[in-house]
Amino acid sequence: MSETPEDTVRTILNRLREGGLWQPAGLGLSYVRTGDDSIMLGVQENTAIAAQARIRMRKLVESIGWRVDESDVTVVDVAAKTPEERSSEERILRENVAKNWKCACGTALVSFPLEEGVWTHDGQEEMLLPNGETEMVEQWSVVITCPVCKACVPCQPHDYSLLVDDEQMNTYRTSGGTTHVILTRDEIIKHVDDMTTSSIHILGTNCPIDGDLLPPRFRGKVVFTTVE
Ligand SMILES: [Zn+2]
Repeated sequence: MSETPEDTVRTILNRLREGGLWQPAGLGLSYVRTGDDSIMLGVQENTAIAAQARIRMRKLVESIGWRVDESDVTVVDVAAKTPEERSSEERILRENVAKNWKCACGTALVSFPLEEGVWTHDGQEEMLLPNGETEMVEQWSVVITCPVCKACVPCQPHDYSLLVDDEQMNTYRTSGGTTHVILTRDEIIKHVDDMTTSSIHILGTNCPIDGDLLPPRFRGKVVFTTVE
């Protein structure tokens, strides 16, 4: 059984949160989900690839019964930009979209107590690889809690990274009260030079102190560990 393009796009759109950003890889198009069955095209790069993809994507999305709003599209000139400039602009675009994410009660997710987010292992999900084979992939979410209505809102780790700063994203607390902070290369060098490496760990799959399963982003990292 092979997935059709319609199946793929339906799965992607159904998983996208309202206000969430969808950038199909390599097409130069940025869509935002605006409702139950609607998206809007916010940004299009001024390339032939993007112009053609825009027409194809609209047909594909409409073929599964969704609407595409193209009434307010910003066309951006990408030819003159370095990859660094483009990636930094993309990050800003994504963060701006994230600022609009709201709880069902209307409270902005950015005003949640994000540092209290709880990394949660949601089991495994079968993922379709580009070569047609499937692979089991661990699913994780960061659950944040609305300070107003107390709703628990699960965020995909990537979405969470758009809401918090790097320091927050690089800090992990286990349920046992152990805190691991990912070190930069310069910090590692300083700890080694100063011979203050007793609190440094290289993380594997589980926390070396209390055995908790670690989120994939912390595995293989050099961290500074403190225990409550
Ligand atoms: Zn709320």
